[in-house]
Amino acid sequence: MSSRPNIVFIMADDHASKAISSYGWGINHTPQIDRLAKEGMRFDHCYVTNSICTPSRAAILTGTYNHVNRVTTLETHIDNRLPNVAKHLRTGGYQTAIVGKWHLGEGKHHEPTGFDYWSVLPGQGEYFDPYMIEMGVKIEVPGYATDVITDKSLNWLDKRDQSKPFFLMCHHKAPHRNWEPHPKNRDLYQEDVAIPDTFNDDYKNRAKAASEAKMRIKDDMKYADLGLVQAEGGFEVGERMMHGSTDRKIPNPEDVSELRLIDKDTGEVFTFKSNEELSRFKYQRYMKRYLRTIASIDESVGRVLDYLDENNLTENTIVIYTSDQGFFLGEHGWFDKRFMYEESFQMPFLVRYPKEIKQGKVCKNVICNVDFAATFLDFAGQCIPDYMQGRSFRPLLNGTVTDNWPDVAYHRYWMHRDPDHNAYAHYGIRNQRYKLIYWYNEGYELPGTNHGGEDREWELFDCEEDPLELFNVFDDPAYKDVVEKMTQILNEKMAAIGDTPEH
Ligand code: CA
Repeated sequence: MSSRPNIVFIMADDHASKAISSYGWGINHTPQIDRLAKEGMRFDHCYVTNSICTPSRAAILTGTYNHVNRVTTLETHIDNRLPNVAKHLRTGGYQTAIVGKWHLGEGKHHEPTGFDYWSVLPGQGEYFDPYMIEMGVKIEVPGYATDVITDKSLNWLDKRDQSKPFFLMCHHKAPHRNWEPHPKNRDLYQEDVAIPDTFNDDYKNRAKAASEAKMRIKDDMKYADLGLVQAEGGFEVGERMMHGSTDRKIPNPEDVSELRLIDKDTGEVFTFKSNEELSRFKYQRYMKRYLRTIASIDESVGRVLDYLDENNLTENTIVIYTSDQGFFLGEHGWFDKRFMYEESFQMPFLVRYPKEIKQGKVCKNVICNVDFAATFLDFAGQCIPDYMQGRSFRPLLNGTVTDNWPDVAYHRYWMHRDPDHNAYAHYGIRNQRYKLIYWYNEGYELPGTNHGGEDREWELFDCEEDPLELFNVFDDPAYKDVVEKMTQILNEKMAAIGDTPEH
């Protein structure tokens, strides 16, 4: 039996740290995920290199930034002929598997490589009776996606060659849009969820990007997002649904007296007395559906941890819980992600490894998803290849480094041509104290128009004085020296990783 640690990497999709109870926000209860915080370490400053699904997954697998691995948007799929961390671990003697959401493309040059076993959801995947591509073969699996992914992960662990260490990536679809809970959890969270202080943000004192984004709960949620159908017909009760199959948004009219919304499962009809009541209804319905899908993930994490306990694997297994990015849960009035603002930029990250990590620790240093691959290889006792741009944060985990950690995270988002969200392209850096963002492009342009670069703007936030990120102080004379210093750090970071400025 090898003494090298096993690695179980559990990743949810769009799970904000705020919706994990050990992060202390008090909006839900996740006792199983919390076991990892209690028995291991919680990171408060883990960041994503590009706050959307596909690029984040590429950064995790390859240990490179997205301008290097070329997976910059949801449509630019991975080239699976290039090296990735699973290939390195497999070559180094690990058994490797990935189960669940892949979202890096299908077909010969995009499907998973480097895995002894793979069974993944095509595209975004379905919540119920999902299709899966299993070792190249399309199958339909009855059940709820979170349970299916857990069952397949545990089955693989059961069948593995016990003479080798293992690397398992268990990737949930939940809590990704359109937030379909397991029927048994449909009644969870009857109490209303607290509304964030910035829910009615007026987007003053910020770059234009904030007010232009079409990610508002009040205006931009679709019927399917909230499990509703329209009285006029269209989206029918019980119909099987794919993400994007309906592009009609729930109206947000001044006069709500004529609006009727119908629950797709129960047929319950909702009417409203005011515009504000409608907004609150959308927020509560969104949050409760989101949190209900997380209840199933929490149960799944418990099953995996119990399996490790029952099979005497706990001591020698690194268990990680994270998400491919954060998510807005009503902050600034938004859902979705994409932005470098804190709620979508921050990834939850909990890790347990009894041999090296003390119980109940909290780390405030900055780590990034691009660091994961190097960290896995470090624990596996393998060389970290030069092409990888992240660095192992094992010294933070075992406490051998406490000072002089390079606390800089870089983010870049390219999908500004997506008219659905109208999120402007940007790049920037964050350190412990400040966040500098450069918005360098207009949003969606109608054919034949030319908006040029008039919306190029800089933002600086003082994360200590203004944690809600409501005041851009880039032009404040009091921050002149900070702007200079942060610009220098940004330039150095871009040069170090080989990315190109847009000036
Ligand atoms: Ca995601």
